[in-house]
Amino acid sequence: MAAPVRITFLGGLGQIGRNCAAIETEGRIVVLDCGQMFAGDDLPGVDAVLPDLSYLIDNADRVEAIIATHAHEDHIGALPYLMAHLSAPIYGSAFTLGLVQHKLKEARLLDKAQLRQINDGDRGMVGPFDCEFLPVTHSIPSGNITAFHTDQGVILHSSDFKLDLTPVDGRRTELSRIGALAWDPGIRLMLADSTNADQPGASRSETEVGAALRAVIRGEEGRRVIIASFASHIHRIQQIADAAVETGRVLVTLGLSMRRNVKLARDCGILRIPDAHIRDIEDIDDLEPERVVVVCTGSQGEPRAALTQMSIGESRWMKLDGNDTVVFSSHPIPGNEAAVASVRNGLARLGAKVLHSGQVDVHTSGHGKQQELATLHSVAVPEWFVPVHGEYAHLVAHRDLAHRMGMPEDRVVFCEDGDQIELTDDGINHLGSIGTDRVYVDGMVGDLGNAVLGDRRVLGDDGFVSVVVHVDLERQEITAGPDVLSRGWVEKPALLAHEDAVADAVERAVNKALRGGETDLEKLNQTTRRAAGQTVSDRTRRRPMIVPMVREG
Ligand SMILES: [Zn+2]
Ligand SMILES: [Zn+2]
Repeated sequence: MAAPVRITFLGGLGQIGRNCAAIETEGRIVVLDCGQMFAGDDLPGVDAVLPDLSYLIDNADRVEAIIATHAHEDHIGALPYLMAHLSAPIYGSAFTLGLVQHKLKEARLLDKAQLRQINDGDRGMVGPFDCEFLPVTHSIPSGNITAFHTDQGVILHSSDFKLDLTPVDGRRTELSRIGALAWDPGIRLMLADSTNADQPGASRSETEVGAALRAVIRGEEGRRVIIASFASHIHRIQQIADAAVETGRVLVTLGLSMRRNVKLARDCGILRIPDAHIRDIEDIDDLEPERVVVVCTGSQGEPRAALTQMSIGESRWMKLDGNDTVVFSSHPIPGNEAAVASVRNGLARLGAKVLHSGQVDVHTSGHGKQQELATLHSVAVPEWFVPVHGEYAHLVAHRDLAHRMGMPEDRVVFCEDGDQIELTDDGINHLGSIGTDRVYVDGMVGDLGNAVLGDRRVLGDDGFVSVVVHVDLERQEITAGPDVLSRGWVEKPALLAHEDAVADAVERAVNKALRGGETDLEKLNQTTRRAAGQTVSDRTRRRPMIVPMVREG
């Protein structure tokens, strides 16, 4: 019996974001990615959602290594939270580690981390596993597919991938090596990206976007051009820079992360821009507007980003008007549509011309569509398959695609967050769920649970009504109050009458309870909550949060 390999999916299976898995053998764990998820409008005040890291924290002494497949936030964003609890070497490409390093430095955790650079084609021991790292094309440079050579055969993790046959850097997803592994020794288990598994066809090559961007910039002669893109999309920035150079313009970077990533990528030698053609935003006033292309952050309508600031006229660097053209070289991530629309409207109000991927082909996805997924399956021919990285519907679509390609039903194992599987000589056992929670971050990690979020939703919907009553328990009477205070419940002038009615109702109820011999303050709080809640509901048909405060004295 060869040693089994156990995989625990801690995040990313059931939503896009917070990807994290633990892969272990003989009690030794390797963490595969550790990302975060951006919080939507249904999570008021939440900065980020993390995977449930408790399995890793509880077993910290068994965690021997962390692999960062690429530098997107949904793969490295939760690393600081994990590294606060344990210490293990982090493996990644030079560019990935550059961004990891910045993240850990910000969290003052750099001294805990040993960063171990991997290069395309490297093979070596990572914790208990003999790992091989292959190049993959995606919307960020230097991502890696990982092939774990285990006692149970090869486990292939696709990372986020597409099959771009003409990538900007010429670095293609290495299908030939995957095919060689499939031939000998064979791929026992594949875990593959499902993000676009419900999309027919294939994603367009990144180089086609470059041609579209060049055409757009040419067409805007005499105008200032501003292009919003992800700061990590170095190949997109490369093509914007190339187009700027070709049209005799200078590339100007705007936004902290844009400046940082451009510098890192130039240092790593994966972004090539002649010095004479790149400037920082501080120099914008020295340049003729029609001779620049500004590349900036904010393509997702992020509140603090450069483009969002411009759209409300609050950028300290640029005021936009009818001589500006703004290009969204992006597509809104689900959940960000409203924020993006608001930025577009703001820009239009300032008179700027707005172009986006719905009008011109200035964006392509970094995730493979059905044809690309089918190609990967037909090259890898895995014995077992688990769809990963996707919303529930994406995982289902990827499972169905595997079935259509001839994989037997029982060889495709459907997993969700928290599920644990074990690969043995006999195949895969689904061990069930270890039970995971989402972890919400608001400022400090760990102090935010579903109860607080529930309260925030109630407060956001209907506000609150607080009732303060002072009582003398011995004399069985109210000594002060009830004083009613509310926010966000009803408008003045009706408010005063409603508050008086609440005070009357609470007074009657508390007096009755006191005369009945009630001396328990907690019970009197309940009496107050019930009386106030009933009156509030009867008079306004609303359900604000009721905050009773019964005090002695
Ligand atoms: Zn990614
Ligand atoms: Zn991802």
